[in-house]
Amino acid sequence: MVATTIPVDTFDLVIIGGTGDLARRKILPGLFRRMCAGQMPDTARVIGASRTDLDQTAFQEFVREALSEFAGETQCDEGAVDRFLTMLDYVPLDVFGDAGWKALKSKLRPDVIRAVYFSVGPSLFGEIARKLTAHKVTDENSRIVVEKPFGHDLETAQLLNAELRDCFKEDQIYRIDHYLGKETVQNLMAVRFGNALFEPLWNAQHVDHVQITVGETVDVDGRGAYYDKSGAMRDMVQNHIMQLLCLCAMEPPSKYGADAVRDEKLKVIRALEPVSAKDVVRGQYGSDDGVARYTDHAGDPKSKTESFLAMKVNVANWRWAGTPFYIRTGKRLRARMSEIAIIFKDPPHSIFEGQPDRKGNVLIIRLQPDEGITLRVTIKEPGPGGMRLTEVPLDMTFAEALGDQVAFMPDAYERLIMDVIRGDQTLFMRGDEVEAAWAWVDPIIQAWQAAGDTPAQYDPSGSGPEDSLMLLHRDGRRWREIKT
Ligand code: NAD
Repeated sequence: MVATTIPVDTFDLVIIGGTGDLARRKILPGLFRRMCAGQMPDTARVIGASRTDLDQTAFQEFVREALSEFAGETQCDEGAVDRFLTMLDYVPLDVFGDAGWKALKSKLRPDVIRAVYFSVGPSLFGEIARKLTAHKVTDENSRIVVEKPFGHDLETAQLLNAELRDCFKEDQIYRIDHYLGKETVQNLMAVRFGNALFEPLWNAQHVDHVQITVGETVDVDGRGAYYDKSGAMRDMVQNHIMQLLCLCAMEPPSKYGADAVRDEKLKVIRALEPVSAKDVVRGQYGSDDGVARYTDHAGDPKSKTESFLAMKVNVANWRWAGTPFYIRTGKRLRARMSEIAIIFKDPPHSIFEGQPDRKGNVLIIRLQPDEGITLRVTIKEPGPGGMRLTEVPLDMTFAEALGDQVAFMPDAYERLIMDVIRGDQTLFMRGDEVEAAWAWVDPIIQAWQAAGDTPAQYDPSGSGPEDSLMLLHRDGRRWREIKT
C-alpha cells in the first residue's frame, strides 16, 4: 500500500536559526523528505538565517551534510539532493541588529504562502517578532512557528504570548509540540471518534483508570545544565503528557478543526483538579557500576530537580469523576516505552465458575516503540477440557498493518511543517491552552519547592522510585510493566 500525499501550494519558508541543531537534524531533512514524497513543490523556497556568516553556497553545503547524516532512508531519485539544494538560500543576520532584514525581505515572493520558523531559544522570540514586523518581512497573512519551551511558568508564558500577539494574530502563530505530530497521537482521535465501538465506553462508568507513560532509557548527560532548570514536569508533563491526557479525556469536538479540537482540550485542562503532595512522586536516577548519577550530569550535587515524575490526576467533570489518570515519565528507565493505556472495568459478573478472576479489557495506544494499538480481550483457551479462559492481544502494529506506508510516513516535524503551509492549526497549541497548562502546573511545583522536597533516588534501568508503585498500590491498582 503506498501512502497518498496531497501536495501543498508553493511557499517561502524562512528558518531563523537555520544553522542550529534542530534545523540540521529535523527541519531541513524533513523538508527534503517531503519534497521526495511529492508533497513539497519544486518551486518552494527555504531561506536559512542566523548569525553564522555563510553565503548561499556554504549553506547549501551545510545542508548537504545534514541530509547525508539525518535524512535517513528516502524514496528519492538520484538528483533529488541537488534539486533540494537549489531551493535554498541564506541570509546572515543577528536578531538584535538591523542589518540583514532588508536582504531577507528581498528574497521573499509577494504572492506565495510565507512562514517563518523561529528555530532559536525562546529568549529571542519577542525580538524576532518585532524585527519581522518592523522590517515588513512578514504581513498579516504570514505564519510564524515557535519552538518549545513555551515559557518556564505562567508568568513567562504570558509574557511570550503578549510579545508575539503584539505583532501577530493568534491564527498566525503555530506553537509546536511535536508529540501532536506523531501518527499514533492522531490515531487516538481516529480510534475514539472514527469508530462507534469505543466512545460509548469512554467514561468513568466503564473505564477503571488511565495510565500514561513516557519512559526513556537516555540520561541527561550533555544537556544536564539545561535540563536541571526544567526537570520532568516542565520538560515533559506540562506540554507532551498534558496534550496526550487532553486528547484522551476531551469531549468529542463538533468537527476535526483547529478551534473545535483546541476548545475541547482547553476544557479538560481547566477541569484538572489541583494535585496534592501525596499524589506526586519525584525521583532522580542514581548510579550503578560507575555510571554517573543525575546530580553528576546536572553538575550540581545538591540538585533537587526531578528526572522522574509520577502523579495521580483527577479530571473533575461528569465523564471522568472517580476515574483517575496516572501519569509517569522518567529518564534512565528500564526501557524506552511511551503509551496510553485505557484500563476498562472488570465484567460485572462472571458466569464461568472456577475460573480465576478475569482482568478488564485494556486498550493500549503505543507511541514507541512499534507505534500501534492493542486491545487485550478474554477468549476461550483453545482445545478440549471445558471452558478455560485466557487473555490475548488483538494487535495492530502499524508497521505490519500498513507496510510500506509506515516506512515512508512523515515524522512529526515533517507533518507539522506541512500543516503550517496548509494553514491548519489543529495540531498546534493555542496561547490560552499553554497558559492554562502552566496555571495548573505552577502550584504543584511551588508546593514541592515550598516543602523543600528532595526527589527519591531510583535505580537506573528500573521503573522509577518505589513510591511510584505505591501511588497505584494504595488504590488497589498496578502500573503496566515498563518494557520494550
Ligand atoms: P542551537 O543552539 O543548535 O541553534 C540556534 C540557532 O540560532 C543557530 O543557528 C544560531 O546561529 C542561531 N542564533 C542564536 N542567536 C542568534 C542571534 N542573536 N541572531 C541570529 N541567530 C541566532 O539550538 P537548537 O537545538 O537548534 O534549538 C532551537 C530551538 O528549538 C530551541 O528553542 C530548542 O529548545 C528547540 N528544540 C530543539 C530540539 C533539538 O532537537 N535540537 C528539539 C526540540 C526543541
